[in-house]
Amino acid sequence: MTAWLALTEPAPNEHPDICTECGGECCKQDPGLCHPADFKDLEAALRSGDYQIDWWDGDPRIYYMRSTVRNAIGSLFHGAWGGKCALLTDGGCRLAWSDRPFACRALVPSANRLMRPCRTAEGLDGLGLKERLVDAWRPMQKALLAAAARIKPDIDPEEVQVDPAPDDIGRYCGR
Ligand code: SF4
Ligand code: SF4
Repeated sequence: MTAWLALTEPAPNEHPDICTECGGECCKQDPGLCHPADFKDLEAALRSGDYQIDWWDGDPRIYYMRSTVRNAIGSLFHGAWGGKCALLTDGGCRLAWSDRPFACRALVPSANRLMRPCRTAEGLDGLGLKERLVDAWRPMQKALLAAAARIKPDIDPEEVQVDPAPDDIGRYCGR
């Protein structure tokens, strides 16, 4: 993965009227990918159960945090290719806009999705927001895996970090 430009904070773009009418289509397809700066305390965020550790399966593997997938509540590590976010309620996202994952804050709702889909905020658009967010976790690998190990001591951060063999993956991600 190449080095990416630093990500700038998305401008406020909350439109509860539009998103309530929509019912959270984006949240039903993909949990929100986080930036490390979304958290003051990684361990507390993981302990809350609202977030999980997922990974970019490159070389090296890069672990990152995203909001929890509903069908995997309780798993600390969970590799997902989408899924319904556990923080979505009948009334919309359970979090205040400013507390939502970076990728959620970066999505600008569209009132007419048939004509123009919701889009990533200007300056963050184009290919690569996911890659850039994942890349932001690169310097956080030790801290993230150490936080995970304090929560589940049977998980060896070093072992996880060196890319567990496929047969071992279920042990870490609960699949
Ligand atoms: S951002 Fe778009 S897809 Fe997501 S809930 Fe709002 S209107 Fe729906
Ligand atoms: S954190 Fe909130 S806004 Fe983001 S995907 Fe989950 S329910 Fe949607």
